[in-house]
Amino acid sequence: MNRGRFAPTPSGKMHLGNARTALLSWLHMRALGGEFVLRMEDIDTARSRGEWAELALLDLRWLGLDWDEGPDVGGPYAPYTQSERMERYAAALERLQASGHIYPCYCSRADILASASAPHGLSSEGPSYAGTCRHLTAAERAEKARRKDPSLRFALPEGREVRFADGIAGPQVFPPGSGGDFVISRADGLYSYQLSVVVDDADMRITDVLRGSDLLDSTPRQILLYEALDLAPPAFLHVPLLNGPDGKRLAKRHGGIAISAYRERGTAPERLVGWLAYVSGLIDRPEPVKASELVRSFDLSMIPRQPVVVDVPDI
Ligand code: GLU
Repeated sequence: MNRGRFAPTPSGKMHLGNARTALLSWLHMRALGGEFVLRMEDIDTARSRGEWAELALLDLRWLGLDWDEGPDVGGPYAPYTQSERMERYAAALERLQASGHIYPCYCSRADILASASAPHGLSSEGPSYAGTCRHLTAAERAEKARRKDPSLRFALPEGREVRFADGIAGPQVFPPGSGGDFVISRADGLYSYQLSVVVDDADMRITDVLRGSDLLDSTPRQILLYEALDLAPPAFLHVPLLNGPDGKRLAKRHGGIAISAYRERGTAPERLVGWLAYVSGLIDRPEPVKASELVRSFDLSMIPRQPVVVDVPDI
């Protein structure tokens, strides 16, 4: 049984870009006759708000999407809200520590910027970590530990290239050391996105991870985590993003892109779904359509392979 998911971070109102990812992930699963899971990625409680999480559920339902398991409907792998799953992440961290995949890092953000070698890290982040704390002696560690709580980093296996076949973006090759050793938990104890997403997708038996291509270069890290935790990775499918007229990823600064704003001004959900389907190559014209009417003809090959430049729809 195929199992897909949509995993929003409630750090703002859901917008056109998020809704488009949700629609495509939902269509992919429904077209395969699979199960669809909604997971609330509110692990960063300082950035997340309960009201935005509630609004996201409302927005998705308004768009005509449904889910078999999720924070509001429960399911066999509950809870589906990250802030309620901390012991799962703690257990995974312990396993990684016991198997020697983790080391403490005492570098500050300024240290990392200063020591960064010219080649940049993954596009989603700043410079790649140079591994400064990877080979500290026990005495050096003890000395640094007196002054600072460490973050914990995953040590990338030496010489290990990561390859995978993306279901939309095609074959991917990441050379050894890509992005540098990455954070598993911050000095303040917050578990990283990389750890929580792998633990959750594995726990929830997700077989197909369809998401925005901004996360393409997180995928090799996640694959290495699956391996380190002795878990089988899912299939990955990364959809090119929607860009605004300025060529930059569609975001709040483009204005008027919150789904709830369309709902509040009385836009019919079918019009918005029609627009999302049109910019995703699923229909020839931006005509009103129900999400459920798109399932039959849905095919991954219809999705454009390059980012799509769009004007914010005035509908
Ligand atoms: N929570 C992430 C976001 O909203 C998505 C994570 C994922 O799909 O792996 O950007």
